[in-house]
Amino acid sequence: MASDNGLREGEVAVAPPPPTDAGLVFIGRIRTPWTSRSETPRQGRRDGPVCRIEIFEPWVAALKGLEQFEQVEVIYWLHQSRRDLVLQSPAHDTATRGTFALRSPVRPNPIGISTAALVAVEGATVLVRGLDCLDGTPLIDLKPDRCAFTPQAGD
Ligand code: SAM
Repeated sequence: MASDNGLREGEVAVAPPPPTDAGLVFIGRIRTPWTSRSETPRQGRRDGPVCRIEIFEPWVAALKGLEQFEQVEVIYWLHQSRRDLVLQSPAHDTATRGTFALRSPVRPNPIGISTAALVAVEGATVLVRGLDCLDGTPLIDLKPDRCAFTPQAGD
């Protein structure tokens, strides 16, 4: 159970440097059925619901060719995360672990990555299964399945 300062037993928060602009632009918004962290899956599942990734202009043209892939990597900004924990005691875990030993959304730069099944590309919207983020989560990037770009012997 979390204490008044939001920390569970064993957790350690630090005073992080003020966030600075790393030059990221949010290129879209992810629409999912989940509006609270507690109801959001810890990791996306291929049999999960279809989620909608809405791409903003001027980036819609960048979707050209994406429809030929079966899997896409979706990279997003876990915008409701705190960013100051170095040790965490996850609710589903008996141990206290370092942030970099976890897939927790709580991290200095709260970037989430899911490999999702591509369902369809419909204009400025990409439909996928396999996400685990809140409705309205900002999108950082989309990339096709990395296996399709693995260098072959002799390349
Ligand atoms: N699949 C990604 C990864 O491994 O990088 C994210 C995994 S993270 C454990 C998923 C959890 O982050 C969800 O269960 C939810 O509790 C939390 N979460 C989802 N969207 C969030 C958001 N926009 N801001 C803060 N926390 C979020």
